[in-house]
Amino acid sequence: MAQRIVPLVAALALTLAACGPAVVPAAAPVAVAVPKAAPATAHPTPATTSATTSAIASGSPAAIPGSGKAVAAQPGPFAPNELGEIPILEIHNVASPQSRWQITPADLRAIVANLYASGFRPVTFRDVVERRIDIPRGYAPVVLSFDDGDPSQFQWAPGGQGTTPDPNSAVGILWDFHLAHPDWSAAASFYVNKNPFGGDSAAKVAWLVAHGFEVGDHTMDHVDMTKLNAAQMLFQVGGIAAWVQNAVPGYHISTLAYPYGFSNNLPGTAWAGTYDGQTYHIRAALLVAGNPAPSPYSRAWDPLAVPRIQVADPSTVQRVVDRALVWSAWEPRMLAHHGAALYVSDGNPATVTVRAGEQGQLAANVPIASVVVAGTAGK
Ligand SMILES: [Zn+2]
Repeated sequence: MAQRIVPLVAALALTLAACGPAVVPAAAPVAVAVPKAAPATAHPTPATTSATTSAIASGSPAAIPGSGKAVAAQPGPFAPNELGEIPILEIHNVASPQSRWQITPADLRAIVANLYASGFRPVTFRDVVERRIDIPRGYAPVVLSFDDGDPSQFQWAPGGQGTTPDPNSAVGILWDFHLAHPDWSAAASFYVNKNPFGGDSAAKVAWLVAHGFEVGDHTMDHVDMTKLNAAQMLFQVGGIAAWVQNAVPGYHISTLAYPYGFSNNLPGTAWAGTYDGQTYHIRAALLVAGNPAPSPYSRAWDPLAVPRIQVADPSTVQRVVDRALVWSAWEPRMLAHHGAALYVSDGNPATVTVRAGEQGQLAANVPIASVVVAGTAGK
């Protein structure tokens, strides 16, 4: 997997060389923890902001307020490259004070604001897996993933039971950002265990799905999936899938995040099955740490071992080698147009725009008729 990493910029190449193979730290529960989101002023602000603002002001197709969907926008700042990499951020608790597995509400707001201003737009992991990255041309997709269903991720606002998330919970922060920036959709993926979000769990999961978020499987009891027999596996994976599907009629879970990142892409893994009257099928799974993810159109894409970038304050991360893999280490490179290696949308989910000479990197199952080579007619 290290070989697939395309040096984004010279500095990145140096970093990778300095800290060894940029392999996804296999099964280590590398916790990269909390990101001290750098202040927005720490990063150069690409020319995106003005374009975005004018797109909103010009009133492109109106958003349906509160629908969770983004409004259309003018083309973004990057050249389309749908074989580029996608950052998938991994976040746990969102509360104060900051610690290894906890970022503050201010951290999360800063991360989102920086991504927005730098030409990123959110999608769910499911959107990536299903090759339905539907964001405007010239923008780069980013996935925000949240593990463990911690209560700090989703509480109701005082008096807003069942309708309005607490503005200081992770969901409230993302939702309010969407309302204030209609071209930033309410897309993020929440990987839950049993009884998520500290109560009123079914109503919260239903609210998430109804507002555009993804809910995924993190096993019933947050177990190491490499140590389960068949019956335990079905209970752990199928149990949470069935619970979510019973809580949200018509919804089907389709992705999973490995607890502790312990990949179990083994014959005994319960990727599909029936539990508690619900049939489920999990098509992709997330690891815990490492690098941006390959494009789902790339030969490097492995749906059952998709890397993420942990969000953590480097000062809370014990191993130096791991500090180089957290979001605060990646963020400046990602936001500063390191563009060449980024996935950038061509604005049309039905076509796959690749750079000239890179067609050989396409996965074998990408329909040739959908491929557009950048710079050629019909682009
Ligand atoms: Zn977890």
